[in-house]
Amino acid sequence: MTQQITVIRGDGIGPEIMDATLRMLDTIGAGLEYDFQLAGLAAQEETGELLPQATLESIENNRVALKAPLTTPVGGGFKSLNVALRKHFDLYANVRPAVSFKGSASRYQDIDLITVRENTEGAYLAEGAYTAPDDSRAESKMVVTRKGCERVVRFAFDLARRAGRKKVTIVHKANILKDVTGMFLRVAHEVAEDYADIESNDLIVDNACMQLVMRPEQFDVIVTTNLFGDIISDLCAGLVGGLGLAPGANIGEQAAMFEAVHGSAPDIAGKGIANPCALMLGAAQLLEHLDDHDRARRVRSAIAEVIESGDRTTPDLGGDGTTEGFTDAICERLG
Ligand code: ATP
Repeated sequence: MTQQITVIRGDGIGPEIMDATLRMLDTIGAGLEYDFQLAGLAAQEETGELLPQATLESIENNRVALKAPLTTPVGGGFKSLNVALRKHFDLYANVRPAVSFKGSASRYQDIDLITVRENTEGAYLAEGAYTAPDDSRAESKMVVTRKGCERVVRFAFDLARRAGRKKVTIVHKANILKDVTGMFLRVAHEVAEDYADIESNDLIVDNACMQLVMRPEQFDVIVTTNLFGDIISDLCAGLVGGLGLAPGANIGEQAAMFEAVHGSAPDIAGKGIANPCALMLGAAQLLEHLDDHDRARRVRSAIAEVIESGDRTTPDLGGDGTTEGFTDAICERLG
């Protein structure tokens, strides 16, 4: 049976990198059917709504979505459309791999790590957010739950086991934020006891950042709370050559959404020079989620080959190619 997925072409460079990614998926014969839906500015222009009901229903039915970056306009009723989608579908695990590509302008060549970030609680879902009318004071309450901590840590250990990873590092700030991240650390150690085959350790977030820059090879899988995960995964993207190569999966019990970590890059939108790799690598995560490991592996190695050869790569990777030419180079290796 053909698998139908929801496809959101997004804003800014979104349509350019989505077209490239769908062309790549068709070239490898992924056998996916696309249910195109709107969200973000494109949706607002066409339907008057930023997140139309039809889009939510499509994701609910298909349970798998490929999403290009969205622009969240100020004053549109949403702090962030991405956060709203994650919350709506309870996509609690944000999985962000960072892998070195030979030939990319990165400081390190042998990084292969995955950050698992809690996606539905903590600082980004703060309760009672308030700024005094005279701008003299602002406040918000951070909440984490035992259930929220436990399920994301379990997810990280299960992922480590499935992917043949050796170690999970729990990142926290329990020495200062004793309650909120203290609970995360406590629960994480409890969960770790169920996974005797996987080594685990914990690091305070500031030390983790320093260690990532000094000795990134000591990391395998990192699991952490929402805010720290956001920062650490971008740091890891920087270690391997930038946002143009950083994909992300948002996974819950009822649905999963795959994307590029970067935003809609309005500064280069419409110029035809956006790097499509982050979304293509997000599509590889999607294929893996659908148990199509062979095609996922082929996509990753085609991208790696093209980057290493420098064949038609885009300016962010030091080349002078276009999105279309770069996609041709990848598809030629897959066809
Ligand atoms: P948003 O508000 O949607 O997050 P932004 O411009 O603040 O947009 P990004 O879209 O992530 O943040 O862009 C940050 C920088 O990285 C920009 O200079 C952008 O051009 C560049 N960039 C992001 N994605 C890509 C890409 N796929 N290819 C090339 N450059 C990119």
